[in-house]
Amino acid sequence: MDEPITVALAGNPNSGKTTVFNRLTGAHQHVGNYPGVTVEKKEGVCRWYGRTFHVVDLPGTYSLTANSLEELVARNYIIQQRPHVVIDVVDASNLERNLYLASQLIELDVPVIIALNMADLAEAQGKHIDTETLSKLLGVPVVRTVATKAEGMDDLLATAVKVVTEDLRPQVQIHYGRELEPHIEQLTEQVKASGRAGNLNPRWVAVKLLENDKQVLEQVIGDQDNGLLERVLATRIHIEQVVGDDAEIALADRRYGFITGACREAVTTDQDARLDWSDAIDTVVTSRLLGLPIFFLLLWLMFTLVFTLGAPPMEWIQAAFAWLSDQVHTLMPPGPLRSLLADGIIGGVGGVLTFVPNIFLLFMALALLEDSGYMARAAFVIDWVMHKIGLHGKSFIPLLIGFGCTVPAVMATRTLASRRDRIVTMLIAPLMSCGGRLPIYVLLAGAFFAPNVAGHVIFSIYLLGVIMAVIMARIFRSTILAGESEPFVMELPPYRIPTFRGIMVHTWERTWMYIRKAGTIILAFSVLMWFLLSYPKPPAASIQSLSPAEARTAALSYSLAGRMGNFIEPILRPLGFDWKIGVSLIAGFAAKETVVSTLGTLYSIGEESDSSTATLQSTLRRDPVFNPLVAYAMMVFVLLYVPCVAALAVIRQETGSWRWPAFVTFYTCTLAWIASFVVYQGGKLLGWGLY
Ligand code: GDP
Ligand code: MG
Repeated sequence: MDEPITVALAGNPNSGKTTVFNRLTGAHQHVGNYPGVTVEKKEGVCRWYGRTFHVVDLPGTYSLTANSLEELVARNYIIQQRPHVVIDVVDASNLERNLYLASQLIELDVPVIIALNMADLAEAQGKHIDTETLSKLLGVPVVRTVATKAEGMDDLLATAVKVVTEDLRPQVQIHYGRELEPHIEQLTEQVKASGRAGNLNPRWVAVKLLENDKQVLEQVIGDQDNGLLERVLATRIHIEQVVGDDAEIALADRRYGFITGACREAVTTDQDARLDWSDAIDTVVTSRLLGLPIFFLLLWLMFTLVFTLGAPPMEWIQAAFAWLSDQVHTLMPPGPLRSLLADGIIGGVGGVLTFVPNIFLLFMALALLEDSGYMARAAFVIDWVMHKIGLHGKSFIPLLIGFGCTVPAVMATRTLASRRDRIVTMLIAPLMSCGGRLPIYVLLAGAFFAPNVAGHVIFSIYLLGVIMAVIMARIFRSTILAGESEPFVMELPPYRIPTFRGIMVHTWERTWMYIRKAGTIILAFSVLMWFLLSYPKPPAASIQSLSPAEARTAALSYSLAGRMGNFIEPILRPLGFDWKIGVSLIAGFAAKETVVSTLGTLYSIGEESDSSTATLQSTLRRDPVFNPLVAYAMMVFVLLYVPCVAALAVIRQETGSWRWPAFVTFYTCTLAWIASFVVYQGGKLLGWGLY
């Protein structure tokens, strides 16, 4: 009977939007599919006392300008889709900064409710927020919530119903002060007269025009000469002269003034609680002396844990797949179908699923760093390093996300204001070794290095990636993407003890993506690679005189994939690689995990059936082409060479041209070849790592 109510959730990143969303809709999903970024809009339905709510989780934003993609997405949704209510989820423990967005929503004159989330944290810090006063000062309803404990959710929905039925709009206007106000009023009148504001609030349009907002300028002025543009330009110049600042800055200052004033009235802080532990930790963690060592220690710890804790469950899964493959071998008659199942599908997909424990632990470690607030400290600590390579600290977060997956890392560059910074960050993001490459390292390091050094070997690969990224950023910054780097104020959100549930939800979703990838792209690719490795069959006469093992190898090299591998082998020979490694590297273009699955398929076709329980690692050890040095050179190559097609596609999408992904492919392959060449030839000269 009642029309469904559309509710949009807006708010700063990490204010708890997703948690509120999950509480309301019961959908246990994270905004966006990737670590650290909210790219997609998530929708859910909620029923409450006979009313239906459509809940939309908007991207996390600090403001609503036209300068960043996420802000535009959120703003356009609110303006164009006209949700019945916008719930602004604010972090009450960090109220002033969070209310900036609220001021923008109030100005937009849409129905707003402020969810004073993380009220528990604010209270623990000794801050008492008088919701009634705050509501009166801001002219919108304010509801206290603790999303993690589901507190205040009913109140939020009841308020939404009230706002909709009573058609409540913000009751307060932000006053821009004596100097600016007359100009804003005049311009507002002129906007009204032009009739071009559509369903937008004319005062908001006037403010946005003064802020030089590209989208609003386009819509309201376009190519029409209605005197507005002239007026806007003249006013901007006038403001600059009178106030001594750009109009944008002058307007933002007044907004902050409004917020600070409101907070001073509504918030009281216990005296003794001011010495908060967050500051205490920060003096150590971000100190000049200890900041970097602590950062590297944490990274090292993270990778060591991922490797050691992940090893036992990895072995169980390995054993399970070996058993499965054995069953197929005993239950089915020999033939192409058995080979497809045992070698193609179980060998390929199994090889990838084996690493689920490691991937899970890696994502869990990243989620812990993110949710606790340490990520932002890491960015702060590393800021001066980033400046040295011509980027700022903010670029560091996309790069750190790159350790999980390059795709969201590229997307996370959207938070960077300068296009040049974005592109440099995107170009080096693939050098941050992604989770998909980890299985290859685990496989090779585990096979060719003693268990107590394998972790260090893997850490050295990650470190090499970072060093290469630094070098390449410097090169790009002084050649194709030269220019000034931007000043930037680093924000440090308060520390937070991550909730078990939050960590698990984030970790599981990312892990599930990995598993899904194994079930789709990698499954398809395993079947394709099996086919390419199995056909065409060599003429029977040509292999008659060979021993069974020799015959299998001859058949492999006669196959289509074998020929491709043989074709590129001359290029790879100086790196110590043979055609089999070549085939697996080609497969890695699709997804890095397929390097492992292809090796799995390759060696399982080449093996005698009765030794199918042998793990891939021991099989590799028996192949004379491999030794620790070749394994290390291959890890280096895998680290540096072309990111997977998904990453290339997202670079194309984010830069709007094929030029950049093409360039990434070219430069990474060249870099990989050179680095592996140096490792292999250098190692050989010194006599390292050979048998
Ligand atoms: P989003 O980026 O706005 O979607 O934020 P999330 O929903 O992912 O929440 C960020 C972190 O804050 C998570 O670790 C949540 O568990 C935690 N969190 C969310 N709401 C609350 C709250 O009311 N109190 C506390 N203490 N933590 C919260
Ligand atoms: Mg979120």
